Amino acid sequence: MILLKKVEDLSRWLGKQRLAGESIGFVPTMGALHEGHISLIDISKKTAGFTVCSIFVNPTQFNDPKDFQKYPITIEKDIQMLEKAGTDVLFLPEVNEIYPQGISGLEKYDLGRLESLLEGAFRPGHFQGVCQVMRRLLEAVRADHLFMGQKDYQQCMVVRRLLEIIGLPTLLHPCPIVREADGLAMSSRNLRLSDEQRKKSVAIYQALARMKEGWGEGIWDEGVADISGKIEELTWEALSFLEAHDLRVDYVAIADPVTLEPLAPGQRDAIALVAAFMGEVRLIDNMSLS
Ligand code: AMP
Repeated sequence: MILLKKVEDLSRWLGKQRLAGESIGFVPTMGALHEGHISLIDISKKTAGFTVCSIFVNPTQFNDPKDFQKYPITIEKDIQMLEKAGTDVLFLPEVNEIYPQGISGLEKYDLGRLESLLEGAFRPGHFQGVCQVMRRLLEAVRADHLFMGQKDYQQCMVVRRLLEIIGLPTLLHPCPIVREADGLAMSSRNLRLSDEQRKKSVAIYQALARMKEGWGEGIWDEGVADISGKIEELTWEALSFLEAHDLRVDYVAIADPVTLEPLAPGQRDAIALVAAFMGEVRLIDNMSLS
């Protein structure tokens, strides 16, 4: 694996691969890697000839400065994991390489409703930060394929929109959520949980699984009015369940999987999404109900 720190070196190196006819797969991360990240590398290696991973803890996407300061950094282990997975290039830039003009006054993107729904509402400015770093990375890598996790469901939607705005032909592949044996979605932030908090956090997965089960329980014969009642009942039950496990809930939602807006009357195709704090650590997860 080759480690590069400068955009210029990365572009030159990838230019050579492109001339040699290789397709390029890209996996952007913030490090503290786990099997969820490695699953993206694996999918990239099966899809593209050449796999680039980036590790960059992007300051502009943290709406909470404490979250940024405490973001786990495990770079040596990350490098070993990426080597083992057969990554071709690790791009490891410094902040001034990504933001040569500094981090204030950066471009703003029109993300429409995505910026006011769910994560957008609870993390003001977060998705603008995601777009700022992703634009720089995407324009440096010019990947054929981009691999991102469905754990960050709304982020995938935002990046799809960004690709449209900046007009890059990179194909986005949203990839399945990798979970721990008990169901907790793998996340770099799990490293910040105490053993007891870690055990209780599985309630997020369990709440989603309960909503999925409830969604399947013959509500479709009961008529439109009962479906909205069912949504209320399921989300309320999930909220109580999460709170009973010491989670402080930002939102529990059942939404349209394409727009994240509330469901249309009688709509079966749905996704459940949760964001909640365990202590100081904010965790998110989601599950298709369809
Ligand atoms: P992060 O380092 O948290 O910014 O994540 C980098 C990429 O890995 C994003 O596309 C995430 O959605 C993805 N990712 C994070 N956790 C998981 C997981 N448990 N399963 C699959 N993908 C994940």
